[in-house]
Amino acid sequence: MEKLSVLKDYFGFTSFRVGQEELIDNILNGRDTLGIMPTGAGKSLCFQLPALMFDGITLVISPLISLMKDQVSSLTQAGISAAYINSSLNHSQYIKALQNAKDGKYKIIYVAPERLSTEEFIFFTQNAKISMVTIDESHCVSQWGQDFRPSYLKIPQFICGLADRPVVTAFTATATPQVRDDIIDKLNLEEPYILTTGFDRKNLYFSVQKPKDKLAALKEYIERNKTKCGIIYCSTRKTVDEVCSNLIKSGFAAAPYHAGLSEGERRYNQDSFIYDKSNIMVATNAFGMGIDKSNVSYVIHYNMPKNIESYYQEAGRAGRDGEPAECLLFYGGQDVVINQLLIDNSNGNEQLDRDAIEAIKEKDRELLKIMTFYCHTNDCLREYILGYFGEKTSNYCGNCSSCNTNFEEEDVTIEAQKIMSCIKRVGQRFGIKMIVDILRGSKNQRIIKNNLHQISTYGVMSDVPESKVRDIINFLVLQGCLEITNSEYPVVQLAKKAGEVLFDDCKISMKVQKHYKENDKPSKTKTKTKQLDRNINEELFEKLRLLRSKIAQEQRVPAYIVFADAALKDMCIKMPKDSDEFLQVTGVGQVKLERYGQAFLEEINSFRS
Ligand code: ADP
Ligand code: MG
Repeated sequence: MEKLSVLKDYFGFTSFRVGQEELIDNILNGRDTLGIMPTGAGKSLCFQLPALMFDGITLVISPLISLMKDQVSSLTQAGISAAYINSSLNHSQYIKALQNAKDGKYKIIYVAPERLSTEEFIFFTQNAKISMVTIDESHCVSQWGQDFRPSYLKIPQFICGLADRPVVTAFTATATPQVRDDIIDKLNLEEPYILTTGFDRKNLYFSVQKPKDKLAALKEYIERNKTKCGIIYCSTRKTVDEVCSNLIKSGFAAAPYHAGLSEGERRYNQDSFIYDKSNIMVATNAFGMGIDKSNVSYVIHYNMPKNIESYYQEAGRAGRDGEPAECLLFYGGQDVVINQLLIDNSNGNEQLDRDAIEAIKEKDRELLKIMTFYCHTNDCLREYILGYFGEKTSNYCGNCSSCNTNFEEEDVTIEAQKIMSCIKRVGQRFGIKMIVDILRGSKNQRIIKNNLHQISTYGVMSDVPESKVRDIINFLVLQGCLEITNSEYPVVQLAKKAGEVLFDDCKISMKVQKHYKENDKPSKTKTKTKQLDRNINEELFEKLRLLRSKIAQEQRVPAYIVFADAALKDMCIKMPKDSDEFLQVTGVGQVKLERYGQAFLEEINSFRS
């Protein structure tokens, strides 16, 4: 079997996403592998696909029952034999599952880490061919991460006990170097292939709004997005209850979730959301861990969260299916006050002394400040977030409320020519800072000492703000007109395309921040969000959605496990007429074609006629 045909036949996709193919190739070559990719990037496929190509069984260690259930349903829907073994099974179900496993009925088995040390399970694995052990959410092995699980530490011992050492692969969305090193160390990965993809989630639209009446703004938004699923995060239980009952009164299908509800209530509400019975979840930050629902189209923060990490993690629950999704933050001055109070009144860990507690509070205040700046910045919001995680990007993403309101296209050809002439003049031997200083006519020592104030481009951009000169330089690097050397002291030099701009009159235009004045700042609440949706027929989409819903209910699985929204949209675009054409739809593999092809083709056909 070839990997591309497995990709299409089982998963219904025709191409890999960023990073997937490299990871899969290394795994297939038998190398230990660590994949660090953001939420929604498609980590599961990286181990599920090789699992199908290996001779033996793949064990996937996963921390949460809900995650296992979700993934096993997805695999079963795609015609892949899989099962989970965790504490949700009673003893006889457990014995039955193990018996099936022994009989070779499962290609992929999800298992909770606690099970690895039970006798029956060890006996089974010592007598079976285990080709790969995958540790999903592998940051749980690290005490540095938020979700440390002591039972993850027993994994290496379990692996050592197997007859042959399998390929060991680990996946996580946590990117800090400490956690990464800890994963390699604690899991005993052997010379692993490590791949980290960027943390940008291109399909997410980020927006900060400052509505006078948050509730009215919220209702207005969800009214416009009635058919979509969304999460609304509030900072307190009280706000959750208020907002939720208000929405229900106005006729929206909303459900609440917070630690003040009983376990039963929480499970019930979570299930109604996952199974699309209620399409709006109003929750505190207690909700979300282990939720893999892929068709969440918006996440609204009704209050500002306490730091950027929490914000990006919670907002990141939108758009896991890769479809355009929106992350809105409703900011109010009160949010800062509440967060400050929460920090002041937190007593932290009892084992810490007063100085340590005070140090933590100080750090929390610092993080809160950075979060608050996010709500006030006019710079690109995506750049701000990614910059916080140490990733450099362009200062214009075109898909956030700042870029959509505060930027305009500007011809910067003259500026570009000035910059490039200057670089050429000084012999291509200085870094960005020096070039900016020369162009802006700085009188710093090095310039005078090197006689650079005598050259013709000295001071030719003295009227342009420093940040703008830097932005243009960075833009020229991205355009291939300039390059920065990879040396100890990075130097800016002319690149291939420089000549086109300097001599061939090729125009350069880029998005530039408008001059910002408090008074003529456009009201952000009225900003129209960018429509990324391709032109699809709403009526047909709705019909297909209903059909999917019916099937999902019959099969007792969440709708997105039958088909992702992306698949339905692609059906609306391709309008397949027969099985062959249906197979061209993204997300349609052999088994899904056999199971659902006819029903969906009939629906599409009746719509056409
Ligand atoms: P992660 O574990 O990285 O958060 P998942 O494995 O849950 O992400 O995948 C997120 C979504 O991306 C799923 O709906 C999955 O079907 C989809 N996906 C994964 N790989 C591809 C691909 N190559 N083409 C299209 N969709 C994909
Ligand atoms: Mg995952």
